[in-house]
Amino acid sequence: MSAKIISGNEVSQQLKDEMKQEVLGLKAQGLEPCLAVILVGEDPASKVYVSNKKKACEYIGIRSLESKLPVDATTEQLLEVIDGYNKDKSVHGILCQLPLPKHIPETEILRSILPEKDVDCFHPYNVGLISIGEVRFLPCTPAGVIELIKRGGFETSGKDVVIIGRSNIVGRPLSNMLDQRDMNATVTMCHTRTKDLKGRSAAADIVIAAIGVPEFVKADMVKEGAVVIDVGINRVDAPDNPKGFKLVGDVAFDEVKEKAAAITPVPGGVGPMTIAMLMKNTLTAAKETMK
Ligand code: NAD
Repeated sequence: MSAKIISGNEVSQQLKDEMKQEVLGLKAQGLEPCLAVILVGEDPASKVYVSNKKKACEYIGIRSLESKLPVDATTEQLLEVIDGYNKDKSVHGILCQLPLPKHIPETEILRSILPEKDVDCFHPYNVGLISIGEVRFLPCTPAGVIELIKRGGFETSGKDVVIIGRSNIVGRPLSNMLDQRDMNATVTMCHTRTKDLKGRSAAADIVIAAIGVPEFVKADMVKEGAVVIDVGINRVDAPDNPKGFKLVGDVAFDEVKEKAAAITPVPGGVGPMTIAMLMKNTLTAAKETMK
């Protein structure tokens, strides 16, 4: 058996087309959703992410603003920019591209964004809301995983889900989301100190890998017929590739796809979903202002 490939490219395109229609309706009611993105420094990967976010905004019809600060900008300068966007009623979402230069305290910056404009969903207030099942926003990558599971028609109710990796950005919020009453999964969170990780993973109906270790999940860690979601994005050397590297996930795709019922590829799986969910949060923030 070869697994069904769950295409994040297709699902994210579908979502963006749906949002494009929705924005037309919102504009007709006089509401133009707006996302402000702040970039500090010249990190090449961050520049690509910011430019992709801008393109997605353009496609959907969301107004996008961008503030670029030099790498030696002070915390106060960054806080001032955020404060300006916090006060600007025409701005619905604010995103500060991570990582920040080392001299700027990330926690303080993320907490300075108003919770109602925190479309990355990193503010502790919004994270707390998820854990009590009163969701305002969902963090973008975990929300993308949930959307792929839902739109793929994979049942989570009563299923055993193993999440490998407990980061605050991916694993931890996913665990919070999957055992809520709308998803009803039984979640086991695995990490570096987990006993018998292989056995736990091999018993799961759904395995979600968010580790950052290339091809960590092998076929013997996956049950026949399981659904496998690979969040990992890792650069590995590939001398044959013109770029000298290629992207692989946290799952050994070629061997696991022979055993799983469905699997996400890397690239083209969870990755493209992240931006789509950011757009969704921006629309949510904008619509909230109409209430
Ligand atoms: P992280 O380094 O913050 O967390 C990794 C987690 O994996 C930690 O909790 C750690 O305990 C666990 N871990 C590491 N090695 C392990 C091992 N050998 N056994 C068991 N657990 C282990 O990473 P992150 O930010 O959560 O990212 C994880 C991966 O997902 C990375 O490859 C990253 O690039 C990718 N990612 C992708 C997206 C996307 O948009 N698709 C977004 C965020 C992260």
